[in-house]
Amino acid sequence: MKTIIITGSTSGIGLGIAEGFASAGYNVVLNGLGKRDGIEATRARLAGLGEGEVIFHGANMLKPDEIADLVNSTKDKFGSVDVIVPNAGIQHVEKIEDFPPEKWDAIIAINLSSAFHLIRAAMPIMKSQDFGRIIAIASAHGLVASPFKSAYVAAKHGVLGLIKTVALEGAEFGITANAICPGYVETPLVTGQIADTAKARGMSEEDVINNVILKAQPTKQFVQVAQIASLAQYLASDHAAQITGAALPMDGGWTAQ
Ligand code: NAD
Repeated sequence: MKTIIITGSTSGIGLGIAEGFASAGYNVVLNGLGKRDGIEATRARLAGLGEGEVIFHGANMLKPDEIADLVNSTKDKFGSVDVIVPNAGIQHVEKIEDFPPEKWDAIIAINLSSAFHLIRAAMPIMKSQDFGRIIAIASAHGLVASPFKSAYVAAKHGVLGLIKTVALEGAEFGITANAICPGYVETPLVTGQIADTAKARGMSEEDVINNVILKAQPTKQFVQVAQIASLAQYLASDHAAQITGAALPMDGGWTAQ
């Protein structure tokens, strides 16, 4: 039975990926912030979806030693770490001249450095298994920029550089490393930034949805969490063994423009 760790899986995209892999019979290690009761309810619900065990580890993505413990305790419990999904992320939308330096530091730490710490801890385990799948949830903002998102865009471009490097280091060990680059997905992260974007651009929230968010996506539709989860499952499969070092957009055509 294979084991997957998904950071930031108490909500949104990470939770959707966790549901997909739990249903497919993996042991799933959930991680993220949230109230204890809510997390336990999520854990119990996911445990009922498939044959694998579902556990929670509360590592804070700001703390490298806790991230290492997330990986090492998973290996101790389940005997392998087959798939890791660096997914945890936060956002802050503000003009660069007003961008709080502590927000820059937190976004780089959670959206980029935590992926480094996770991969760094998992790589020796994956090498010893001759198998590993690293599936980072980057963003269309790993490929193109938007104004007022300096830290996020820098972090996501950094994730793509990290993934390409790790792909080369893992290539002869059965380890692939790829990044999924979603466009706008309707999750709490996006809902939360609608008001901030409205303020930064001097627009109404409705205008932001129609003329900023969906304007970026030619399909005029949000990406669905289940669609990302399905791509992640494909990348984890043997059929995807020759896809490595890739940045795969799922953005309704946004970055084709
Ligand atoms: P979300 O806010 O719903 O979920 C974020 C998750 O990260 C939560 O589980 C949260 O608890 C966790 N998290 C935040 N800070 C943490 C910390 N310090 N330690 C541990 N966990 C922490 O957001 P989402 O939309 O599901 O985003 C998930 C990923 O997808 C992010 O990396 C985001 O940048 C990326 N993404 C989202 C969209 C989108 O439109 N929603 C688009 C492209 C990429």
